[in-house]
Amino acid sequence: MDSKEFRIRGKEMIDLVADYLENIENRQVLPSVKPGYLKDLIPSEAPAHPDKWEDLVSDIERVIMPGVTHWHSPHFHAYFPTANSYPAICADILSDAIACIGFSWIATPACTELEVVMMDWLARLLNMPEFYLASSGGLGGGVIQGTASESVLVTLLSARNKAIHEAKLEHPEWSDYLIRSKLVAYCSDQSHSSFERATLLAPVKCRKLPCDKKYSLRGETLLNAIENDKKEGLIPFFVCATLGTTSVCSYDNLEELGPICHENNIWLHIDAAYAGSAFICPEFRPYLNGVEFSDSFNFNPHKWLLVNFDCSALWIKNRSFIVDSFNVDPIYLKHEHQNVAPDFRHWQIPLGRRFRSLKLWFVMRIYGATGLQDYIRKHVDLAKYFESLVNKDDRFEIVGEVTLGLVCFRLKQSNELNENLLKIITQDAKIYMVPSKINDIYFLRFAICASSTEKRHVEFAWENILKHTDILLKNNQ
Ligand SMILES: *Cc1c(COP(=O)(O)O)cnc(C)c1O
Repeated sequence: MDSKEFRIRGKEMIDLVADYLENIENRQVLPSVKPGYLKDLIPSEAPAHPDKWEDLVSDIERVIMPGVTHWHSPHFHAYFPTANSYPAICADILSDAIACIGFSWIATPACTELEVVMMDWLARLLNMPEFYLASSGGLGGGVIQGTASESVLVTLLSARNKAIHEAKLEHPEWSDYLIRSKLVAYCSDQSHSSFERATLLAPVKCRKLPCDKKYSLRGETLLNAIENDKKEGLIPFFVCATLGTTSVCSYDNLEELGPICHENNIWLHIDAAYAGSAFICPEFRPYLNGVEFSDSFNFNPHKWLLVNFDCSALWIKNRSFIVDSFNVDPIYLKHEHQNVAPDFRHWQIPLGRRFRSLKLWFVMRIYGATGLQDYIRKHVDLAKYFESLVNKDDRFEIVGEVTLGLVCFRLKQSNELNENLLKIITQDAKIYMVPSKINDIYFLRFAICASSTEKRHVEFAWENILKHTDILLKNNQ
């Protein structure tokens, strides 16, 4: 394909994308294919000779679409949202054209420099502490990672190296391995699985601490755990606090955890992967109170801030801990400006990196702060509306508190009945939700996900749930 043909095919592709998204509501949100469906639809070998473009395009509907879960259908209410917007798609097209690998400043100065400024823009939108901003002239700064999982892993590894270094100052005779075997990281029992996984990779001990009745990790619980571990000769070094847990969107108590971490020289990381986007609204910013105690903060604009996957924003209070932890500097990657501009390869696990800041630049400029705030507020209002529908029916109860775009609810019946309800809703595939379970209580999660979700889709979902509930309860009598 040459540029002349690309001008034609590319524009056709844009039309295909716009048609897909405009009409997505008419597609079944959850596919009904069985595992292995695809291999029977295409040849088992790559073509020996070029295929026709038209044949390829017609195969999209035949081969791909039957196996797509439509995350951007307004009937998609599972997991948490993943963002999608036209400005972000346009930015990705440009990123694909430049197609650089921005591992160092010289490898594409704009890629590094736009990222530095965008992370400051974003930090200001969230009203983050000044020490996280590169423009403050301090030691802090932001970087775009691929996912929250990578963000917490690089943070944990940095904190681990800092803790080993500090323990050696006191005990020069201890080996790295001995010190590592004493390190303990903490999270709550509601923390995302990616943190436990990071502790397995690090590898360091992980203590999952119990939450209070509001699914929040409290200071006293942490303090007791730290004291017990210290008595055993262990070294507490890391706490992963969550703002907006995956199960019920609850919040750990930063204002209690923060001072305890500070007094015990423990790195406090905040995982706000989903909820972080909402903190751009002044009315939701109080959830972030206590952030001034943190050493690192992460949220995913690719979840709820209209920036397509992948874009996970990570800020570090003292970047030297992350840069020094992973610094290898072979001669072919060296350049003369190494000390004045960040080389983001030191801030992450892979060497290569995409020009992801373009997506942030396009989205923040085209929506503006007010456009982004309106978007968040609309989703929260829709969730509150769904909550009001649930509350009107006394066969149901709300689980946890509806603070943002997630509503957790259940029939006031056995787990088994609730499981059956979700099973028949999922088989019917008009809407898609996933369940969760806390303290052996099974419940359904209804998340506002797609940017096209309106009040009528929320009503459609509730009517669908009621229809299946009536049938289920009748058969159960
Ligand atoms: C979604 C989520 C994650 C994982 O995000 P990835 O970017 O897919 O790694 C981690 N923590 C919380 C609280 C989440 O909601």
